[in-house]
Amino acid sequence: MRTLLLTVLFGLLAIIGVAVLFLLEAHWEIQSVAPDLPDRGEIYAALAAENGPVRIRYINTASQTAAGRKVIHPSYVIEWADGRIFLIEVGMDEPGAAAFGRTMERFLGSDPIEFHGSAAARLGPDSARIAGIAVSHLHIDHTGGIREICAAVSHQITVFQTEDQANRGNYVTNPGFADLDEAECVSRVVMEGTGAHRIVDFPGLVAVAAGGHTPGSTVYFAKVGDKIWVMAGDITWTVDDVRSNTPKPSAYSTLIVPEYGARMEELRMWLKSLDALPRIHVVVSHGEQAVIDAGMELYVR
Ligand SMILES: [Zn+2]
Repeated sequence: MRTLLLTVLFGLLAIIGVAVLFLLEAHWEIQSVAPDLPDRGEIYAALAAENGPVRIRYINTASQTAAGRKVIHPSYVIEWADGRIFLIEVGMDEPGAAAFGRTMERFLGSDPIEFHGSAAARLGPDSARIAGIAVSHLHIDHTGGIREICAAVSHQITVFQTEDQANRGNYVTNPGFADLDEAECVSRVVMEGTGAHRIVDFPGLVAVAAGGHTPGSTVYFAKVGDKIWVMAGDITWTVDDVRSNTPKPSAYSTLIVPEYGARMEELRMWLKSLDALPRIHVVVSHGEQAVIDAGMELYVR
């Protein structure tokens, strides 16, 4: 009996030990990522283009209420005059949303998730016009929609990634990495170096390596008409948290998704300074109110 108890005890300790090692490794990795952030002059210069995007809209693939707050899972649809579409984030497909929703119910006491349709389904025949894709980071609620996109199209789509997003990760980004890696319609392009990257062949679209939330977290800028949209991913969950410099709960940033606290504050302050400028709108992935307030339309075919 005593031997059995000791075996169970050592087994449990070993499991906890391995979990702690994964967590420590992820914290060590995220704290090594802090690329230089471009100032507004550099961003404006990179966005300047003759033939920039003509329209930006969003698809909401799924939504769920957690702790009284509605969380959405969008895909931003950016279009050029020649008909090409670039998606920032691809949201989730139905099985992915169901699994993600159950996890949120179990751990956060959320309401059941409501699935509204994958990006491919909502785009319908317009999926044929998707020419490029990028995601703010490699979490499955941002990458899972790629499977249905590949099933819907018969052409190759370029996925753009910063070096950090292509090369660095941890246990929370491995499944999202696999989503892109296994997607047969995807050709990947890695953007080298830091600062404001012009996304090649997509004038008026810029990527900035950010880190903080995951090693590969990236912030995207799109200049549509006289407005600049800043798609900040999961740096915060609402734009109010950017404006008030409010961090996420430390239990989340320490134990669930290992984040780099000091870097997240630097990113909030950077985004806040940009959001204060005229005709610049910062939006974050999981908050819908800022998107509505800033006047981004829902994608309707
Ligand atoms: Zn997310």
